[in-house]
Amino acid sequence: MENVQEKLAALAEMQKIHAEIDRIRRVRGGLPEEVADLEDELTGLQTRVNRLQEEINELNAEVKSRKEKIKENDAAIKKYKEQQNEIKNNREYEALEKEIEYSELDTLNHKKKIKIVEEKVKLVQISKEEVSAKLAERNKDLEDKKAELDVIVQETEEEEKKLLKQAGSAEKKVEERILTAYHKIRSNMRNGLAVVKTDRSACGGCFAIIPPQRLAEIRQKKRIIVCENCGRILVDSSFFGIEPA
Ligand SMILES: [Zn+2]
Repeated sequence: MENVQEKLAALAEMQKIHAEIDRIRRVRGGLPEEVADLEDELTGLQTRVNRLQEEINELNAEVKSRKEKIKENDAAIKKYKEQQNEIKNNREYEALEKEIEYSELDTLNHKKKIKIVEEKVKLVQISKEEVSAKLAERNKDLEDKKAELDVIVQETEEEEKKLLKQAGSAEKKVEERILTAYHKIRSNMRNGLAVVKTDRSACGGCFAIIPPQRLAEIRQKKRIIVCENCGRILVDSSFFGIEPA
């Protein structure tokens, strides 16, 4: 406890472990997002498949309705022809002839439209099959991603437990007051780094130039020095396994 150099080493060790824990948590945190993105994509694809099916249903209903109109025309034509046989009057005969002609034209028109609609159904069917295939593919991706997530969660949880235990041992070498400061600085820093090494003559956290006097003190490892600019604890780069430049 009384040896500052040991405290500094413990702080650096703690920081290395916490940085690794942060990294693991980031990896684990990113996967559920990927799963959620895939789920959103799947929902979108399913909606498209449903819409295309609805379009097919509507087009088929139109074909059915036009075929019924043709049947009605056939029945009417048959009726007009029967009436023609019973009529002696020329004018009435010709009026019925006009009705027959009109019904035949109407049937012809329905037949043309049916052909167009049936072609359209084929095209929509192809689109639907394409989207369905993509949906099946993405479903498979989702299953894979979920399995991957399960493995990573399990692996990283085990690793995290181990690291937290290691961090706990390092914490015991640092006094309460400094430990509290460490955690406070860590929570204030976006990158979660409370202890940084000197980077040549600059702070490894904010890259502010360190005055030569403080730099010398850091090298002496006899005091806990804090960066005047960002407030992080500054330690000699040798604590991070790198000899000073
Ligand atoms: Zn700094």
